[in-house]
Amino acid sequence: MSGGLSNVNHMDNEHGFPDPELPENLSHLADIPELALAWDHAVASRRETARQFSALLDYRNRCREEAAGRHLFARSAADQAAVRDAGLLLGLGERTATIILNQAAEVREVLPLLWARFQAGAVCLDRLRKVAAATVPIADREDLLAVLDQEVSQLAAAMNPGELKHWLARRIPELDAQLYEQRAARAKEDRYVRIEHLDDGMSFIEALIPTAEAVALQRRLKAVARSMNLPQPADEEQDSRPGGEAAGHPGAAEGDDRTLAQKEADLFSAWLRDGRCYGAPVSAKICVMVSEETLTGQSNEPALGADRSWVLPAADIRKLATDPGAEHEWYAALTRKSTRGADRDILAVVYSGRFAPERLKDAIIFRDGICQAPGCTAPAERCDLDHIVPYDRDGPTSAENLWALCRRHHKMKSHGYLPAPPREPPDAGADRPEPRAEARAA
Ligand SMILES: [Zn+2]
Repeated sequence: MSGGLSNVNHMDNEHGFPDPELPENLSHLADIPELALAWDHAVASRRETARQFSALLDYRNRCREEAAGRHLFARSAADQAAVRDAGLLLGLGERTATIILNQAAEVREVLPLLWARFQAGAVCLDRLRKVAAATVPIADREDLLAVLDQEVSQLAAAMNPGELKHWLARRIPELDAQLYEQRAARAKEDRYVRIEHLDDGMSFIEALIPTAEAVALQRRLKAVARSMNLPQPADEEQDSRPGGEAAGHPGAAEGDDRTLAQKEADLFSAWLRDGRCYGAPVSAKICVMVSEETLTGQSNEPALGADRSWVLPAADIRKLATDPGAEHEWYAALTRKSTRGADRDILAVVYSGRFAPERLKDAIIFRDGICQAPGCTAPAERCDLDHIVPYDRDGPTSAENLWALCRRHHKMKSHGYLPAPPREPPDAGADRPEPRAEARAA
């Protein structure tokens, strides 16, 4: 970084790594002296972490080499001892140390460009680990790993951990749609529910179920829990809540001081216990983006959730699209493949029929996907629609002048701490229109 504010990172130039600049989306922060200094220290600290891990991996390799030729159990014990030593040094348990060292070793071996960025101080250990964890499905595909390495080494530094996780979730299925489709079909066979009883009279429920169902469940829980403050029709039968409270059924509104999380948990168990659906009838709305080729079966490119954080296998979205019990609304979108590979920028969303605010809102959910504040990954479906030019200053209620902002960033913008980014003209590098589906599961 220029500015001569510190000399922290310059000493590392003899290792051949150029000093990483602040990512472009954060470059304005480099003008603030305290933040520029903090960035220099962050770079230096990441470089130190990278050296630390290089040394630990070298040590582990040396222990392995020294035990080579011995019995399998002896070799395994030598490796475990090396990991234990590394764990002691890092202040971590053996289990955690094993996971972290395996991830670092994998990146050093199969993602050399990303490893170089780690050593240069551009990418932190947390991001490195996220990438390593996400590559499991393509672990034996050197060709795909090379493509991913090329892309992720360019992008990882500019994304926060949440953005990176979502990007990986989209990009890895896309690298080989066929492979993903096969893995997704196999993965369904492993579905289960596990109930574990804990202390304090509480239990834990874990379920591995297809994402299409989990998203519908999540949307429905949120929608019903939020609607509970509205007056509810009384159920004829009283039903006690878990915990023995006599406050009536889980949809009770009178004097209800439960948090949203508590309401969701109560609904979840009530629905499972007797199959009745308490609360106002609310449908679960899922916004999904899908190409025409996937719908017609010409392609197995997976569908993408509107917030770009999850993907659905092609077979699942075709099933959802033809489900007679679901209500569908279709939007055609003008898209462009961005340099981020998995990201499809939606430049314009067209909805058929007469203008209705709900459809404009949906269109912006598809276009923005997430809160538009830099680094925020709150889904647009749970955001406010903010007028970029305020309504009382003649800002129109139109797609061009509306953007999704989560409540927190909406407030920040209202106080003048969040400038609106300049929008590209909608026809720049536009791709052909692709249909996008919005499904309302009944
Ligand atoms: Zn936000």
